[in-house]
Amino acid sequence: EAVKKSHDLVIIGGGPGGYVAAIKAAQLGFDTACVEKRGALGGTCLNVGCIPSKSLLNNSELFHRVQKEGAMRGINIPGEVTPNLGALMKEKDKAVKQLTGGVEMLFKKYGVKYYKGSASFIDEHQLKVDPIEGGEEAILDAKNIIVATGSEATPFPGIEIDEERIVTSTGALSLKEIPKKMAIIGGGIIGLEMGSVWSRLGSEVTVLEFQDAIGGAGMDAEVSKNIQKIMSKQGMKFKLGAKVTKGVRNGEIVNVEYEDGKSGKTETLDADVLLVAVGRRPFTKGLNAEKIGLDFDKKGRVVIDSEYKTNKPHILCIGDCTFGVMLAHKAEDEGIAAVEYLKNGFGHVNYNNIPAVMYTHPEVAWTGQNEEQLKEAGIKYKTGKFPFLANSRAKTNQDSDGFVKFIADADTQRVLGVHIIGPNAGEMIAEACLALEYGASCEDIYRVCHAHPTLSEAFKEGAMTVFGKPINF
Ligand code: FAD
Repeated sequence: EAVKKSHDLVIIGGGPGGYVAAIKAAQLGFDTACVEKRGALGGTCLNVGCIPSKSLLNNSELFHRVQKEGAMRGINIPGEVTPNLGALMKEKDKAVKQLTGGVEMLFKKYGVKYYKGSASFIDEHQLKVDPIEGGEEAILDAKNIIVATGSEATPFPGIEIDEERIVTSTGALSLKEIPKKMAIIGGGIIGLEMGSVWSRLGSEVTVLEFQDAIGGAGMDAEVSKNIQKIMSKQGMKFKLGAKVTKGVRNGEIVNVEYEDGKSGKTETLDADVLLVAVGRRPFTKGLNAEKIGLDFDKKGRVVIDSEYKTNKPHILCIGDCTFGVMLAHKAEDEGIAAVEYLKNGFGHVNYNNIPAVMYTHPEVAWTGQNEEQLKEAGIKYKTGKFPFLANSRAKTNQDSDGFVKFIADADTQRVLGVHIIGPNAGEMIAEACLALEYGASCEDIYRVCHAHPTLSEAFKEGAMTVFGKPINF
């Protein structure tokens, strides 16, 4: 017999969007529940996305450094340096467990009721919870509902995923052995991050990208070209303009066929593992949302207004399953804003200032607009670039690939975009986000004292470069 419960707010999905919304709502005094069917909180991000990928990226980079640069950096290593895949994976699983467990503790701390199961609409105000192990069957009555059901890997027509030899990012995060050869369909951020991991561990990695540039939407063209050069130097191979036509498993090998963009010829490629990383699509299966008449667009995204309200105004939607970039911090900020709209009638997310980070080495990070977008909008701008080669800390660390590129309004110097390739670019971009949010000009930035010797001096000198001259270059 299903228990009947009522709550002020029920959130469907415990990913970065849902769990952050749940905690914020509880903090603001709502009687809040969150339904999650995965068996762990944290969603894609904590379980099979951001966190496990960063664990593998961080440790494979350390391995690579010790192996390739140990001698140069004064580290004596008797014998051969080899990866221990089992230990690497264990460390990754530990990070995931600690963080997902941490969210569950936060739910207890703030009094969010956690239902372990799958939620579906009975009607506009009632949800049915089909329990998973450890959960209870329940009927929930809710004044407000937030849909935060996230996304899933987009399938590639004709290619069958087995998560063993032909994998999505989820399989690529848990390979049982290091492939000798790995082919990747899609040179976007996820493909390039996973490619970096396995390339550092010894795989021969080939990226097949349909577009004529890597990095995906939003990456500045100059940045894309440069990071491709750097990654090629690291040993990754790129086939741009490649149209994949086939990917089939043949025993322990995957046969891949693609049309070369330039020659138009069909080429073949054999790999031990094929990673399909052609993007993600909204996930709303099993919600029974059609029954209550929720509005979807052609891409399967839940249609919302500027206050995250669906066509049923008491039902809101945030994160990957609605409009916008599919990033964890975007989902989180929407979670907070949506709850604030419910509580106070206002909230804030600046969609012109959502940072994107690719955690390769060096990292790539940007926020605001890129040159291509500004040209298209007919906005006059100036750019300034400062290379890490001229930054004392990067030089000292012998880690000086990349640059900080500023794009600013030609008349006012107001910062419109910042694009960085470099060590720790993902941390540095936070400074650019503050600058954009506060409407800073380049002069505002270069009059702020930055500590020496730090990488952040390259940020300051990048700003100086737009309307004057830097000191160190
Ligand atoms: P999700 O995290 O997908 O969470 C939705 C949750 O809802 C899921 O746990 C699902 O089980 C649950 N759910 C769905 N339907 C139901 C239902 N009917 N009942 C109950 N529960 C349900 N983003 C970054 O910002 N930085 C990164 O470094 C990064 N790296 C990534 C690496 C990889 C390999 C991948 C795949 C993604 C990465 N992302 C990254 C993207 C990030 O994971 C997503 O943008 C983020 O998880 C979206 O959050 P969300 O809350 O909208 O959805």
